[in-house]
Amino acid sequence: MAKIKVSVNQDTCIACGVCYSLCPQVFEAGKDGKSQIVSQYRVGGNVTQGEVDESLKDCVESAKNSCPTFSITTS
Ligand code: SF4
Repeated sequence: MAKIKVSVNQDTCIACGVCYSLCPQVFEAGKDGKSQIVSQYRVGGNVTQGEVDESLKDCVESAKNSCPTFSITTS
């Protein structure tokens, strides 16, 4: 199954909680409430970089499209 790369920019994240409310399978609250990728899907030992199965695409996209600061990107 195809994989989707997900990235969170903690420099612009305002810790609003929308992404981890909408898609807790992939996002969680990190330090100071800023978003990070859940440990299961992290890559490269970086809490802001992840890779998920395409089955989670809708979940990730809803979070991405609802982020008020456009801090979530996919590729
Ligand atoms: S929705 Fe955006 S601003 Fe809000 S916690 Fe998630 S990444 Fe941060």
